[in-house]
Amino acid sequence: MYGLLIGPATRRQAIFAGLCALAILLTLALAAPRARDALPAIGPFMPMCALTVFTTSCIAAFLLGARFAATRLPMLAALGGAYAFTAITVALQLLMFPGVFTRTGLLGAGPHSAAWMWVVWHAGFPALVIVAELVRSGASADPPLRPGLDARAWLLIAGPAVLAAALGVFVVHFNLVAPWHASTATSTAAAATAQTPPAGMVANATGLVICALDIVAIAVVLLKGRLQLVLDWWIAVALLASLVDAALNTLSIERFTLGWYVARLFSMFAPGVLVCVLVWEVTALYRQLSEEHASLIQTSTHDALTRVYNRSYFDEQFRRAFERAALGAQPLSLVMIDVDHFKHYNDAYGHLHGDACLCAVAEALGLTLRPGDFVARYGGEEFALVLPGADANEACAVAERARAAVARLAIPTPAAAGRVTVSAGCATSAPGASGDPATSAAPHALIAAADAALYAAKRAGRNRVARAGESLV
Ligand code: GH3
Ligand code: MG
Ligand code: MG
Repeated sequence: MYGLLIGPATRRQAIFAGLCALAILLTLALAAPRARDALPAIGPFMPMCALTVFTTSCIAAFLLGARFAATRLPMLAALGGAYAFTAITVALQLLMFPGVFTRTGLLGAGPHSAAWMWVVWHAGFPALVIVAELVRSGASADPPLRPGLDARAWLLIAGPAVLAAALGVFVVHFNLVAPWHASTATSTAAAATAQTPPAGMVANATGLVICALDIVAIAVVLLKGRLQLVLDWWIAVALLASLVDAALNTLSIERFTLGWYVARLFSMFAPGVLVCVLVWEVTALYRQLSEEHASLIQTSTHDALTRVYNRSYFDEQFRRAFERAALGAQPLSLVMIDVDHFKHYNDAYGHLHGDACLCAVAEALGLTLRPGDFVARYGGEEFALVLPGADANEACAVAERARAAVARLAIPTPAAAGRVTVSAGCATSAPGASGDPATSAAPHALIAAADAALYAAKRAGRNRVARAGESLV
C-alpha cells in the first residue's frame, strides 16, 4: 500500500486542489496591479516568514523522507531533497540578511549575499522538482529503490541539502553583487542614454528567469504525472505558489510593498501546503488503520455466520475467566448447547435455511445472558454460554431460559418435536467450595463436564437442560 499521497486523486481531491490553484491565480491578478503600493513597514515580517518557510520545509523534507523510507519511491526522496534545499537556502538567507541578527548579516555575508540566497532558493526549488519528476518513471508505479538507503537515495535526499550549503559558501566567498544592484551605479547614466538596462529591468530579468523555471517545472509535473496522483496536484499547487511569489517579487523589488508582502505569504504557502497534505495523509492513514484494526479484531473474534464470538475467542476468554474466578474464589459456569436433530433440518430445508436457523438460535441465546456473560459458537450447531460468577443453580436457570427462548422461536422442523429445540449441559467450577469433580478443575475439565451433561440431556430425550453429575435417566 503506497498511501493516499501516491494514490490516484479522487474527483473531490482534484476539485479542491484546482480551487486552491484558482485562488492563487486570483490573488495574483488582484495584487499585481498594485504590487508597488507601499504599505506600513513591519520589520519582523521577513524573519518571521523565513523562519516559517524553514520550519515547514524541514517538516516537508522529513515527512517526504519518511514516506520514501516506507515506499522506496525515488520521486519522494527527490522531492524531500527539494524541500531540504529550500530549508537550507532560506536559513542561510535569514542568517545573512543585514539587520536581522547583526547589522551586516552573519557568516561573513556581503551586502548582496541574502539577495543571492533568495535567487538560489527560488531557482533551486523548481529545478529540483524537475529532477524529482525525471527520476519518476511512471504515473503510479515508480520502480522502488532497493531496501536500504543506496547511493542514489542518498544523492536524492542529502545531495540538494549539501548543494544548498555549497552555494551559500560560494555566494559569501565570491561576495557577489546582486544582479539588479550591479547596474545601480550606472543606472542614472543608463536612464539618460538608455543603453544600459536600469536596476529594475535587471531585477525583472532575474525574476523572469525564475518565473520561467517555475513554469517549466509546472509543465513537467503536468506532462509527466498528468495530475493522476494526489501528489501531482499538490506539487503543481506548490509550484504555482512559488511562481506567484517570484512574479510579485519581480513586479516589486522594493520591500514593504503590497507585492512584497503577498509574495512572502506565498513563499510560506509553497512548503506549507505540502506539509498540510502530508499531515492530512498521516491522519487519514491513522484513521484507516484504526478502522481496519477494529474490523480485524471483529473478524478474528466473531463467528462470520452467527456474529456471536467464535471458538478462538472462547478458548482465550474462557481460560481467562477461569483464572479470574480461581483468583477471586468466585464460581464460573459453562453451559454447552446443541441444536437437536439439526441434520434433519438441513436435509429437509437445505444448508442456507440451516444457516439462517443457526443465526436465529444464536441471537435468541444472546438475549438470555446476564451482564458479563458471553455466548460463543463452539463449533457446528453447538454454542457455549460462559457465565462468570454464576453458581450451578443460576447456570441452570440461564440454560433453561435459553432453551425456552429457542423453543419460542417456533422454527418448523421435520424432526419429531415439530420445531427447532436445543439441549443444554451445565457445569460449574467453584474453586475450594467442594470436592465435586466438576469444581476446582482445569478449564478443559469444566468443558468436558458440561459436554457430558449435554449428552446426558440428549440421551434423556433432548429439548432439556442437564447439570454435571446429574443423572436424568
Ligand atoms: P443431535 O440432536 O444428536 O445433535 O443431532 P444433530 O443432527 O444435530 O447432530 P449431528 O452431529 O448428526 O449433525 C449436526 C449437523 O449440523 C450436521 C451439519 O451439517 C450441521 N451443521 C454444522 N454446522 C453447520 C452450519 O454452519 N450450517 C448448517 N446449515 N449446518 C451446519
Ligand atoms: Mg445437534
Ligand atoms: Mg453437535
